[in-house]
Amino acid sequence: MTVKEIYEMFEAIGVLTFSTIHNGEVHSRVAHFNGYDENGIYFRTMWNKPYGRQLKASKKVTVCGITDSRILGHDEEGVPDFPPGYTIRLIGEVRHLEENEVRELAKTNKDLELAVYDMDKYPAMKDGNFVIYKAKGEIFDYDFECTKRDHKVLRTRFEFGGMSYNEAGPIITDKCIECGQCKDVCSFKAIEEGAPYKVLSHKCDDCGSCIMTCPMDAIQVSKVF
Ligand code: SF4
Ligand code: SF4
Repeated sequence: MTVKEIYEMFEAIGVLTFSTIHNGEVHSRVAHFNGYDENGIYFRTMWNKPYGRQLKASKKVTVCGITDSRILGHDEEGVPDFPPGYTIRLIGEVRHLEENEVRELAKTNKDLELAVYDMDKYPAMKDGNFVIYKAKGEIFDYDFECTKRDHKVLRTRFEFGGMSYNEAGPIITDKCIECGQCKDVCSFKAIEEGAPYKVLSHKCDDCGSCIMTCPMDAIQVSKVF
């Protein structure tokens, strides 16, 4: 995926949750992105807000959002019904931008013109601009009832700026005797027959039911993203 495509997926949601680490604690805020280019995705806060200082110190950020989280109702067994949608998240590194750098970027990037306008209007905006210059992330597109899509889950992982990531899903090893029990228990249809059987990362929910069911202990837990 391109940075533009990633930005647009976030932008369609609007308000997002941003988190960073401070003194070993996770701190979160709601905010939104305000632009992108080939160097990354831009966002801002204000000079005196602790979040900006935390970001300058940690240089680490996670961002996530969901298109629509309303529960439409429950079925007879009490299972919640979610409207089709997607979540998107990223784990990245940030760099603080000096005022002059933002002004220079805005000369060729229309998105950042508003940042300049705000810096002129609010002095505290002059020291609150950041860019996520490298990141890895995932889009988790879902339609649990398959009303609007032909998949329950479709996972797409991405990176920009040179970060690497692992694919989703447990790993089936050569201890597999091809009994098929993992495939039977997987409600996401994410396991393919073969020798050995194989987990299809893009369909897998990482739930672990297959691991718990395998009689041969042939399935390893998913690697951390
Ligand atoms: S349950 Fe275990 S042994 Fe059976 S097919 Fe799946 S991985 Fe192979
Ligand atoms: S972890 Fe869950 S969703 Fe993924 S393959 Fe195993 S049972 Fe299916």
